[in-house]
This record gives sequence, C-alpha cells and structure tokens, in this order.
Amino acid sequence: MTRRAVLGDALRTLGTRSTPAGRRTMVTRSQLPFAVLLTVALGTILLTDAAAASVLVAIPWAVVAVVTGVLYLVPWEARAEYTGLATSLVDIAALVVVLVDLDGRVPEVALLQLIPIVVMAYCFGIAGLAASILSTFAVALVPASIRADAALAPLEVVGLLVSAVAISLVAVGVYGAAILLTRAQKRLSDAVVAADDQNTVILTVLEAIDAGTAFVRSDRSLAFTNSAFRELVERSRVDPETLAGTRVFGADRTTPLGPEDQMIAQALRGEYFDSRLHWVGEPGAQHSVLVSARPVVRADGVLLGSAFVSKDVTELTDAIRAREDFLAGVSHELRTPLTSIIGYLEVIQDSVDAGTLGVQRELDIVQRNATQLMMRIGDLLHVADETVTMRARPAEVTRIAEQAVGAIRIRAESAGLELTCALCPSFEATIDQNRFAQVIDNLLTNAVKYTPRGGHVRLVLDNDDERMTLSVADDGIGIAEDEQPRVFERFYRTESVRGGAIGGAGLGLSIVRRIVQGHGGEVGVVSAPGAGSTFTVVLPLSPPPGSPALP
Ligand code: ADP
Repeated sequence: MTRRAVLGDALRTLGTRSTPAGRRTMVTRSQLPFAVLLTVALGTILLTDAAAASVLVAIPWAVVAVVTGVLYLVPWEARAEYTGLATSLVDIAALVVVLVDLDGRVPEVALLQLIPIVVMAYCFGIAGLAASILSTFAVALVPASIRADAALAPLEVVGLLVSAVAISLVAVGVYGAAILLTRAQKRLSDAVVAADDQNTVILTVLEAIDAGTAFVRSDRSLAFTNSAFRELVERSRVDPETLAGTRVFGADRTTPLGPEDQMIAQALRGEYFDSRLHWVGEPGAQHSVLVSARPVVRADGVLLGSAFVSKDVTELTDAIRAREDFLAGVSHELRTPLTSIIGYLEVIQDSVDAGTLGVQRELDIVQRNATQLMMRIGDLLHVADETVTMRARPAEVTRIAEQAVGAIRIRAESAGLELTCALCPSFEATIDQNRFAQVIDNLLTNAVKYTPRGGHVRLVLDNDDERMTLSVADDGIGIAEDEQPRVFERFYRTESVRGGAIGGAGLGLSIVRRIVQGHGGEVGVVSAPGAGSTFTVVLPLSPPPGSPALP
C-alpha cells in the first residue's frame, strides 16, 4: 500500500471524502476542537490573571481562529493531505508561541498539543507520525529554552523529555491503530467489491439461461429473479402481497390451486420438491411448467428463504399428448377391423373342415398372429390411455399365480427352459385380478423370451401381514446396469435385443409398472449381463387410500 493510499484512506476514516461536506466534517472533528479549547484556555487564564500573558498572545490565537474559518470556507479538499498536515503544524506553532508568551505559567496548556498530534499521527501516515514526534519535542523544549528567567535545570530537562517521549508514544500508538484500521477497511471494501462482482456474474448467468430462477426471502420479499421467472409470475397472475397466483392449476389443468398449495407457500414452509408440474395462465393459453424448490438454510440453521427453478415444458407436454392421441387413435382404428378378422376366422373354423381342405396349419397361423396382433394393440391402448381404470376386489393371489404359471408352462418347455415356482399357501389380497394376472404374465413372458435354451425361470410368491412379494428370476441374457432403470419406460428395449430376433414393442414392463403403482406398490429389477435378471414386485395387501386401484 502506498503512502498516498494510506493517507487517503486515513482521511476517509475521518470523514473527508473529496466533497465540501467531507471537508467540513474533517474541520469539525480535528481543527475546531483545538481552536475552541485554545480559546477557552486563554480566556480562562486572562480572566483569572490579566497579567499572565501579554497582548501578543492574541496573534497565535487569531491565526488559529482564522485558519479554522478559512478551512471551513475554502474548498481545499482536493489536496486534503497537505492542507491537513499544514494546519496541524500551524496549530503546534501557535501553541508554542502561546507557551512562550505564558513563560512557564500554566504549563498544562501544553496538553492541547494532543489534538494536532493525534490528528497528524492518525491521518498523515509516516510523515504525520514524524511531524507529530518532532512537534512534541518542540512543544516541550522550545518554550522552556527561550524562557525569560534562568537556564533550565537538568532535572527540568529530564521532565520535559519524559513528557515529550510519553506523548510521542501516544502518537506511535495512534499511528499503529490508523494503519490497522486502514488495512481492515481495505480488506472489507475489497470483500464488498468481490461480493458485488460475484453478484453481477451470478445475475448475468441467471439472466442468460432460459430456465426461470428466483430467490424468495423468508419474509416473502423477492431477492432476485430472472426474466423467465418474471414471465412465469406474470402469467400466473401472482399477487405481490400473498405471492400466490390466481391462474395456477394442478396437473389436470382445470383445478385451481389454492394459495397454500402453491409452490411459493410450500417452499417457504421449508418443503422442497423436484419437478412439480403446474399449469399456469389463462384457460386456452396455458403453459405447463416444472418447478423445483429448495429451502436455503444458513450454517446455523436459520431459514433464509427458498430458491426456485422453473422450466417451461409446454412444447414437450404437447408433443407427448399428441403422441398419446396418435397411439390411441391408431390402436382404435386397427382394433375394429382386426376384431372382425378374428370373428370371421372363428366362423370359418366352425363352418369349414380346414383339415380336409389342407389349410388347417395356415388357418392356425393366421389365427395365432391375429390374436397376437390384438394383444399388441391392447398393450398400445393400455399405455396410451391415461385413464385406464383398475378395480380392486379381494382375490386369491396364490391361485392367480398358479394359473399364470400354468398358462406359460407349455411355452417355457417348448423353449427348452425349466420353469419352477415356490408359492406360499393361499392368501387373499385386494387387487384388480386381471391386471395382477397381466403383471405375472408379462414378467414370465419376458423371462422366457430373454433366457436361452437350457436356462431356468423361477417364480416366488410370498406374503406377510401387510404386503406380498412376487419375484420372477431367470438366468438369461441379463440387463446392463445403466439400462436397468430405463426398461420400465415406454417403448424402451435394451441395446442387446434391439434389431435382434426376439420380438417386442418395449411396452410390457411399462404396463407392469403402471399396474403395480396403481395398487400402491413398487417394482424393481436386479440384473447382470449374461447372469440373468430378477424382477421383484412388492404390493400392499390392500391398496392405500387414493390409489387408482380403489374406486
Ligand atoms: P418387450 O416387449 O421388448 O419385451 P418390455 O417392456 O417387456 O418390452 O421389456 C423392455 C425391455 O427390457 C426388453 O426389450 C428387454 O430388452 C428388457 N428385458 C425385459 N425383461 C427382461 C429379462 N427377463 N431379461 C433380459 N432383458 C429383459
């Protein structure tokens, strides 16, 4: 740090910023107290004993008074360090003249030097410190050495030097304090600048991304937002008082969300959520928005507010809806002629002796393929229809599992697989019987499809008081770890089977997951490529309240 910087910073600590107001503050804090105290001291001395000082004492007093006035009136702030130092030296010189005139009477007047000395040591760096030490010795020695009466006694000299050294030490202490203060101030202002810069960078980055971001303090005031979030707030018609919007709807697009169910209220209660779907905006021009929120908590546990991120996914939801509408439309269009084909095939089977005509095999193939096509279309309809209903009733679970195993046994045997099962004794659960049978059938069908000849498939069904666990294990081709979570997505087929000879549409497991979740349960897979897969379904014995399986 340069000397000039130290001087400048120290001046700033006295309130002298390069403005007229700063200048007056400095004069009031440093020069005025000296002028007033000198006036009071001289006035008191002269009132007490008019002969204590000569008329000449008025000169130094007048100089101090004029300098003080000039400092108030003349704009010297541009050269603050030199003017201030010169003023303090003028004060010291005036004090020396007064002390000479007092000629050893009332030596305590010398204590007035403390004001200019502290100012010099505090404000003007090492030059100020040197000037204040020299001044201390001048105040101690000059008046004493030119005193009218006799030469100074040695002890008197010692006494004067001791007081000069003591006041010099005060000056050194003040100088050290000024340096420390200046450095602390510098560090603080550097930190403030760094924080400001960081803030600017963050705000610019947030403005540049197309996701909405915001931070709402716990007192519900908005600390910052970006334009995408402001757009969301505008579209939601958010009331600045309650921070709740009047145009915010749930996932069904029609049920308006009450203020307490809206994201800001929830987040300010300290809840956090990921990718919650809200529909916002006027009916007919609604946008779908995924909102995530996190409480922002200081290290000592105080909740500072909540951070929000929103993403407009209208285009994506429109595309998904279009795909589903298309699927539903196509499936319906295919099902009608196919139903008629299957019906007429049955009529032909009943009315014609296909064996005699030599077309029995061909007719069987047509019928089998038509039935398979019908099943595929059923799958497509199932995944396309969001409102598929499930009707849970008490049912014999073990019996359903036995029937499902029986239905697939022939297929497993003709594929050269050993199919075993371990079923617990008969028990009841409240489930949609047909859908549950579909879950077992899809899992067993997959196990048979994806296990090479000579392999094993095993179904295990178990239960306790609250839930049942069904697992289907095989020692087939297995699924790579990164693909395991994806096999439950619609239309997803693993890399190893895509384009291969084993047919499939990638819908079976997504249907399984939907049915299982509809019953309030969970499905998962553990697998290793080449070692096989185990799919496990855990279902409550009766679906929890609110699950789709309950009417
Ligand atoms: P698909 O009609 O293709 O069988 P699914 O939704 O039933 O559709 O399964 C999705 C994908 O998961 C399958 O294409 C396959 O790659 C993989 N998969 C499912 N079950 C198994 C299994 N038992 N062993 C290995 N891979 C499997």
